[in-house]
Amino acid sequence: MKTGRRIHLKGLVQGVGFRPFVYRIALENELTGTVENRNDGVVIYAEGEPENIDKFLKDLELKAPPASKVLSMNVEKSDLSGFNAFIIKESSSVSAEVTLVSPDIAVCDDCLEDMKSQPHRLDYPFINCTNCGPRFTIIKDLPYDRPSTTMSVFKMCDKCAGEYSDVSNRRFHAQPVACNNCGPHYSLYYNSERINRLDDILAAMSSFLKEGKVIAVKGLGGYFLACDAFNPDAVNSLRDGKRREGKPFAVMFSSLESIQKHAWMNDTERKWLQSWRRPVVLLDGKKGDELKGVQELAGGVSSGLPGIGAMLPYMPFHYLLFERSGLDAIVLTSGNFSDEPILISDDMALNEFLAAYDAVLCYDREIYNRVDDSVGMVVNDRERIIRRSRGYVPSPVELDIDVDGIIAAGAELVNSFCLGKGSQAFLSQHIGDLKNLETYEFYKESMARFIKLFRITPKMIVCDMHPDYLSSKYAARAGLPLMEVQHHHAHIASCMAEHRLDEKVIGIAFDGVGLGDDGNIWGGEFLLCDYENYRRLYHFEYVMMPGGDKATLNPWRMAVSYLFNTFGAGITGPDLPFLSRIDRNELRLVRDMLNKGINTPFTSSAGRLFDAVAALTGICSSTSFHAEAPMRLEAAIVTDVQEGHYDYKISGGEISFSPMIKQIVEDIGQGIAAGVISAKFHNTIIELIVEISISIREQEKLNKLVLSGGSFQNRYILGKAEKRLEAEGFMVYTPSMIPSNDGGISLGQLLIAAKRRKH
Ligand code: ZN
Ligand code: ZN
Ligand code: FE
Repeated sequence: MKTGRRIHLKGLVQGVGFRPFVYRIALENELTGTVENRNDGVVIYAEGEPENIDKFLKDLELKAPPASKVLSMNVEKSDLSGFNAFIIKESSSVSAEVTLVSPDIAVCDDCLEDMKSQPHRLDYPFINCTNCGPRFTIIKDLPYDRPSTTMSVFKMCDKCAGEYSDVSNRRFHAQPVACNNCGPHYSLYYNSERINRLDDILAAMSSFLKEGKVIAVKGLGGYFLACDAFNPDAVNSLRDGKRREGKPFAVMFSSLESIQKHAWMNDTERKWLQSWRRPVVLLDGKKGDELKGVQELAGGVSSGLPGIGAMLPYMPFHYLLFERSGLDAIVLTSGNFSDEPILISDDMALNEFLAAYDAVLCYDREIYNRVDDSVGMVVNDRERIIRRSRGYVPSPVELDIDVDGIIAAGAELVNSFCLGKGSQAFLSQHIGDLKNLETYEFYKESMARFIKLFRITPKMIVCDMHPDYLSSKYAARAGLPLMEVQHHHAHIASCMAEHRLDEKVIGIAFDGVGLGDDGNIWGGEFLLCDYENYRRLYHFEYVMMPGGDKATLNPWRMAVSYLFNTFGAGITGPDLPFLSRIDRNELRLVRDMLNKGINTPFTSSAGRLFDAVAALTGICSSTSFHAEAPMRLEAAIVTDVQEGHYDYKISGGEISFSPMIKQIVEDIGQGIAAGVISAKFHNTIIELIVEISISIREQEKLNKLVLSGGSFQNRYILGKAEKRLEAEGFMVYTPSMIPSNDGGISLGQLLIAAKRRKH
């Protein structure tokens, strides 16, 4: 006896090969009916034998295309209509209601196969299908159809058009479908030459890379800079060209096996690296004997840090390049100059990169939306996003709260913004440091594009309390009702939003800088908060930041400030080795500032405490990239100092580190290794997190605890604190798919505004 069902699916079910998939499993289960894309999702009518219907529903859930995401599936019994086939119906028109836009998807295995066998796509470096290929980077408007993408200028050949309109084909309605005869192509520029044949391009690039040359390569979301990761000179010249950039570079490896030679991976890391999102995953690098018989990566790649930012190929061209060159690993880092956004303009690449480097690889499809590679790490077996971009954006964060029409401007240094539509939050890609003019332009442009793409009607705007942030200035000029939110409150709210917590929690926010409501610079904060309000219960003791922002670039200034704070006014403190390496005049100036309290804003920042200890121990006195000192301090940890820690003092709501600074000075005097001091310091932070959390729990009768802020990108602290707190019986919520750094702030701002606004 046949039966019928009406199935309504919502979520990311369009532009990801969902209808062809439904069609296929309907045929496999001998069902008849229809499948249709509508503005509110996908609707299926299916008729067949009850057991086949059941099997079909199971397949819908279990075998869905990798990039799709079903958020709800509503199944109802329906009357039999007597369909005699299963058909894909034409899309219903899209109204103001929008469907989701898929992030870009790494090339799939089927396409890699086709690249070797399909005559019109042999070695075609832009091969794609409904399961893979560019999405967000090429979309200009909705609905997601070829004319509203940057593929519109390429006219499909008859073969491609046939596949595009054949429901049984893997490329049915794959908007970027193309082949050697009709799609985009690469060109390689060097000196005054231009090569257009793919084989010649691959041969030239292989020899350039092996000769130690640096090539600017147009990727999915922007230009990248590539060189042989084993060649120290090549890595250095790449770094020089980027104008003194100090931060570690990401490395693309030819395969999982080649990563295995250089770094440790657990299953979670392995799976994440291989996922269609293909992020850069920060791994523990192998060292010493662990690298026996392995050619080592150039030291400059990771700036002397022990981690490796590894990723796997995600564009067809990457596969071809590794195959032809036989290389095992290439540096592949964002193509920009210092703090500028990743470059997407071909003209600029040909001007600026061709002047600074050896060659430029272009292709003739425009990148519309710029996205960097996403970056993450795995801590306590969970994925932790550090930079949310390619492969993630523009997937929304699903909420239970109405956030419609709210624009959240974000923070300043690691900016992202966030827009509310219904109960979904659209978090932008990583934008970068707004203080850079080009980055600020990118911010404004992306904001306008998101508003248009997702049909948002702005009703209000929310920003950080800091009046000098360019995002705050942007908000003030937006001509919308304006709300200001405290930085660390937003950090905690962002993690609450990720876990859909809407209640009072203990919030621990540790980071570098955020303006507090008393006008001081906060960053070591224990808050009691819900979305609407917060109360500051404990914080790190205020110390002076000699020279303000200058102290951030020169951790030694914070070390001198902590010594001053510990050993008293007028006394310069013990004569530690790190002091001898500082310019005498500058040191005198800083001490003068501290004595007189001139240009010395107060801070309770955790980041500045980490800076101070990094400098005290001689690990890092001045920095060349953001958060360098805490990273080097963490890297120095000697892991077998499991238990030892220093003392601190809590009085009122203040945590004083003077006892610890004294003990560290003693340890240095006794010649204790910096790595041991670093371990004991980190353990101290974990001890105090646990101790204070327990006393807040007793005072406030709360057991849910949220950790957020950039300092929780420290694996040691996040990993151990989470475990210790769980062992103490807390329900611990930590950032996973939303960055704990300022890249997550805008989501928190959005939620706070949503709960505070009057309806
Ligand atoms: Zn594919
Ligand atoms: Zn074609
Ligand atoms: Fe922050």
